[in-house]
Amino acid sequence: MKPTRSEGKGFFSKVVFVNLDSGKLVFEELDEAFYRSYLGGLGLGAKILWDRVTTGADALGPDNILGFATGTLTDTGALFAGRYTLLGKSPVTGGWADANSGGYFAPALKRCGIDAVFFRGISPGPVYLYIDEKEATLLDASDLWGKDTIETEVLLKERHGKRAEVACIGQAGEKRSLMAGVSTDGGRLAARLGLGAVMGAKRLKAVVAAGRKKVGVADPERIKALSGAFRKRLEKGGYLEKIIGDRLLHKVGQMTRKSPFYMRQPPQLFRAMMKKYGTSSMTVMSAEGGDSPVKNWHGVGYRDFPFSMSEAIGAERVGAFEDKKYGCFSCPLRCGAIVKVPLDEKNILEMHRPEYETLCAFGALLLNRDLGVIFRVNDLLNRAGMDTISCGATVAFAIECFEHGIITDKDTGGVPLSWGDSEGILNLTRLITAREGIGDLLADGVKKAAERLGRGSEAFAVHCGGIEPPMHDPKFDPGFGMAYLCEPAPGRHMVYSIMLMDIERLDRKFPQTRKPPILMSGREKYNLTDKGDFMAAGCFFRMLVDCAGCCVFGTQVGGEMPLVEWLNASTGWDLGNEEYLRIGERVEHLRHAFNLREGINSARDFALHPRLTGHPPLDCGPAAGVSLDRGSMAEAFYRAMGWDIETGVPDKERLLALGLKDVAEAFL
Ligand code: SF4
Repeated sequence: MKPTRSEGKGFFSKVVFVNLDSGKLVFEELDEAFYRSYLGGLGLGAKILWDRVTTGADALGPDNILGFATGTLTDTGALFAGRYTLLGKSPVTGGWADANSGGYFAPALKRCGIDAVFFRGISPGPVYLYIDEKEATLLDASDLWGKDTIETEVLLKERHGKRAEVACIGQAGEKRSLMAGVSTDGGRLAARLGLGAVMGAKRLKAVVAAGRKKVGVADPERIKALSGAFRKRLEKGGYLEKIIGDRLLHKVGQMTRKSPFYMRQPPQLFRAMMKKYGTSSMTVMSAEGGDSPVKNWHGVGYRDFPFSMSEAIGAERVGAFEDKKYGCFSCPLRCGAIVKVPLDEKNILEMHRPEYETLCAFGALLLNRDLGVIFRVNDLLNRAGMDTISCGATVAFAIECFEHGIITDKDTGGVPLSWGDSEGILNLTRLITAREGIGDLLADGVKKAAERLGRGSEAFAVHCGGIEPPMHDPKFDPGFGMAYLCEPAPGRHMVYSIMLMDIERLDRKFPQTRKPPILMSGREKYNLTDKGDFMAAGCFFRMLVDCAGCCVFGTQVGGEMPLVEWLNASTGWDLGNEEYLRIGERVEHLRHAFNLREGINSARDFALHPRLTGHPPLDCGPAAGVSLDRGSMAEAFYRAMGWDIETGVPDKERLLALGLKDVAEAFL
């Protein structure tokens, strides 16, 4: 039986609160005014957590709330609308955390007739939540505890039927590794900031969603027409897809590196790259052009990880193992793929194609050109439910500690560690996922590891505010530096940067935002003092995308995603671009306020490791001589947001104008 459309206007106005202490579930209604202010997804979650998480709550204790929220566009017929947002207080920073992932979990959860589910308390024993449109119940998960993410998902689907979608933790979450995330769809992770550890601390092994109630929308015909037209626009320009390959992408990287100007990025190129190879397409280009961090952030791509090395783990080599392409729910781009990798004559590893972040974190960052080991590490981490970015960065940290005698082969079980040594990398990753030996000390990331090891190891612990940075160098695109520092969830690479703003071309849709220049001189690129409003607009837009539950890649591949039009057709509202951007702004203020209430002021408290800002500057490569000024980055963004640079406190009038009276009262 096919799910049928029911009531609602893009949302069900209903959320579930699960108390894991008592096992009680409470359904609550939210009114339309709530959704007009915050929409769904990230916005809904931000408001609930702001209202209900007690200040000073232990992130791994009973008072933290862990939420799974679907977007306002999830399952409405809009495209790219398959992401769910995971939210809670971070055990890494002690402040705000959110992460999101695609796949098929979001529509399955929304079809239960709810917009989100929130967990409070700690269960006395391992449990999982089963929910559909008729029932919601906590069930014993003792037999699942200790199983990896893929085994868990297979068992739960056998138990609850094919339409069940599963979000679960693996051993990393159970063992409360601060690098743990939550897995869906056979190893797709909502990682970052340790929310998998929060789930493990609650003894919540999984959420199984098997709903079949489709949300109603105000104007289904309009949504269909908008989606059809957008899909058509994305089909244009297929010729680029035919000619693209690692050699061409290497040339693009080379041009980027050598050009005295920063050039606006054509979205058609990105679209072709994503369609053909997914994010693995960025591996060679980013290493050559200067976007990829190399050798724990103190190397230079074209010198230390040249084409001969990056090509060995590049998109074409990875693509040789591709078994089939796939897309997330309602996605026409289909950037995902399953690869099959023979281990020996009998055994084949089947997994999601490694993403650029993984290929770089276990490639250029470690000077590793062994693709076989990257596949094995990818599988190991997806099964354990551990963030590949943080784990790769932690291995890089350990290699430098080994070079300086802070870690020895006695710690690593007799296997030495060195740059590019694939056996040592695989061995250490195994120890980290199992929390065995030195792996136990490293399993909470570089900041905690350096605090425990001491002896000068903090010099090699590259992090921003406690989290290992993504694989995009702020010295290449200083907008990333601004986001790594000022974002309430630090070290975020998908919120705003010069490159992202270029590709998104927000000015076309939102005339109040500035048009990025076609060419920018190096000097102009590194001058961030006049770019605060530019980045803030990008940030509001990204918040809006996450409230809608959409994939950000949909906004970056050209064709101008009709986000506002979809939202109006779905809800029946007639809000303008400006009003939607203000929802994004409201959500950013809430996330920042959540941190402030915990005593965290990003610009003051989220330190960036000196290697991220070029202190000391590199002596060659595209970022040679570049040192970013942390103070001016923070000032520019804070000024645009109306946040006091010393205290972080937002401007009262602005909060009141946004309808955030309770936030204003909390600080003034
Ligand atoms: S672009 Fe890729 S990640 Fe985004 S929704 Fe489509 S398949 Fe998923």
